[in-house]
Amino acid sequence: MTLLDGKQTSLDIQAEIAEKVEQLTAKGFKRPHLAAILVGNDGASQTYVGSKVKACERVGFESTLITLDGETTEEQLLAEVEKLNTNDEIDGFIVQLPLPKHIDDQKVIEAVNPLKDVDGFHPSNVGKMALNLPCFLPATPYGILQLLERYKVETSGKHCVVIGRSHIVGSPMSILMGRNAYPGNCTVTLTHSRTKDLPALTREADILVVALGRAEFVTADMVKEGAVVIDVGITRVPDETKKRGYRIAGDVLFDEVAAKSSFITPVPGGVGPMTIASLIMNTLLAAEGKSALNG
Ligand code: NAP
Repeated sequence: MTLLDGKQTSLDIQAEIAEKVEQLTAKGFKRPHLAAILVGNDGASQTYVGSKVKACERVGFESTLITLDGETTEEQLLAEVEKLNTNDEIDGFIVQLPLPKHIDDQKVIEAVNPLKDVDGFHPSNVGKMALNLPCFLPATPYGILQLLERYKVETSGKHCVVIGRSHIVGSPMSILMGRNAYPGNCTVTLTHSRTKDLPALTREADILVVALGRAEFVTADMVKEGAVVIDVGITRVPDETKKRGYRIAGDVLFDEVAAKSSFITPVPGGVGPMTIASLIMNTLLAAEGKSALNG
């Protein structure tokens, strides 16, 4: 079994990008600049945005964090988005989701200039991804592709089963693994809560991507010997032995599934850190006036 070490791979990617930033600035170009908008004071969102901003600093990017209080109206937020759309100093930006209930997430996503949409959530980028055209890929699937590529995991002709069909993970993952590229060229099965006899399908998977958000849902009896297992899940499970009162669990029961796998991502330290690396990669591409579709 080989551990797909997202923590190390993310650091490797960040070191490569830091070098590119130095080369750019040595040639007189400005540093890439990522902005993030955070609305309200949700603890998890603050942590996620904080680690994105820190990663920007590590690679030599400029970063701007715009914090708006939880009472901000949709109109006010859309005005902030428009300011970033037209600010030439900003190469790319994200609006941290989820937004407070009184704001329509989709309306905000659609207000972002697709050329600055480094989260890859704008329908224009999603449509281009489906058509195999250059675009910004959504960060988590892009990070998974990077892990598969850097560990030279064979994907062509394999059966990839994806659990979960969210717009940010499962659905784009199913599109990307089915495209005519590397990583890709899989035969893909996309599963969800209405899927009948899920274990029968997962047992057929050469590559299993698990993104449903239920701690330790996938057990060894659901996995084929030698499968590649990508665990996207992040769930806080109460644990009184921990100082903070919880532990982070993936969607896969790691020890027993790892024993049957050829490659597997740990949680934490697998897909999570790769998501940040992808955002940084997308921002560099935005600064260079490009967009990404590896392969
Ligand atoms: P989500 O929007 O909650 O979607 C969950 C999906 O799982 C839905 O499509 C749902 O089906 C499906 N599902 C639920 N129960 C199921 C079951 N028993 N059998 C089969 N499918 C089932 O989730 P998400 O946003 O994709 O997140 C999934 C997990 O990944 C969460 O733990 C989240 O925290 C984590 N995550 C991690 C990262 C990272 O960077 N590592 C990034 C994003 C998300 P229906 O569509 O039928 O409801």
